[in-house]
Amino acid sequence: MRLAVVRNRLALVDERGAIDVAAVSGGKFSPDPQAIYQQWAQFRAWHAANSETIRAGEATRYSADELGAPVPQPRQVFAIGLNYRAHAAEAGLALPESDPVVFAKFASSVTGPAAVVELPSEAVDYEAELVVVIGERAHRVALQDAWAHVAGLTLGQDLSERLVQFRGPTPQFSLGKSFPGFSPIGPVLVTLDEFDDPDNIGIGCTLNGQQMQKGRTDDLIFSVPRLIESLSAVVPLLPGDLIFTGTPAGIGWARVPKVVLRVGDRLVTHAEVIGEMTTTFAAA
Ligand code: ZN
Repeated sequence: MRLAVVRNRLALVDERGAIDVAAVSGGKFSPDPQAIYQQWAQFRAWHAANSETIRAGEATRYSADELGAPVPQPRQVFAIGLNYRAHAAEAGLALPESDPVVFAKFASSVTGPAAVVELPSEAVDYEAELVVVIGERAHRVALQDAWAHVAGLTLGQDLSERLVQFRGPTPQFSLGKSFPGFSPIGPVLVTLDEFDDPDNIGIGCTLNGQQMQKGRTDDLIFSVPRLIESLSAVVPLLPGDLIFTGTPAGIGWARVPKVVLRVGDRLVTHAEVIGEMTTTFAAA
């Protein structure tokens, strides 16, 4: 299943276009994209039992700029630092040993896959990341049960203002990564059955056409199940919550000279199966 938000309404996406969920379900499910995660098990069951109805449903074409965030108002947004070895090395930081490095991206930073993001300074960097969407409340979940709590996967950018992130006596990851628009996600949520291997997905980004990051999620130090096990040992993960799983090597801040995002830049983030999203940048 591929799920999108088209013109602010929840839609299933196939090769014909977008099929409005509220319409094709006869009003059983709301067009509100955030509400679906509260009914995820019922929605999956309905989807599995109604493939003919869905295939016969009216599909409309849409353009990329009509897409919104597939999870527009998550209650909690977790993010993971230093989850790829080559990225930890380029950052000059030691590898995490027994537990992942965790911070928050505040929910007001979430935006869609065609966003224009204002640059608050000349120190904003990109981080292409696989993003997990929780489908079922997860508290103290064992490793082998972790995937069963996931609604699907999407793509994100963990945009980062490096001066705020590193100012002061301790790093301010959560603040530096939560300016408005600093968490674009999309273009679609893809359920796990669509992947050959949800633990091995190619991901990266290009800046103005030049490849800047390229990695695979089988390089993650802490896999998606391990992240869910570790986070849920402390915090209950709620339906519709997001986990940004960390970024591969190639960030701008670690380059010599540094690369930063500039007004007019075009950042295209891509992942196998999920697709791509384009973020552009404007003056504050
Ligand atoms: Zn990140």
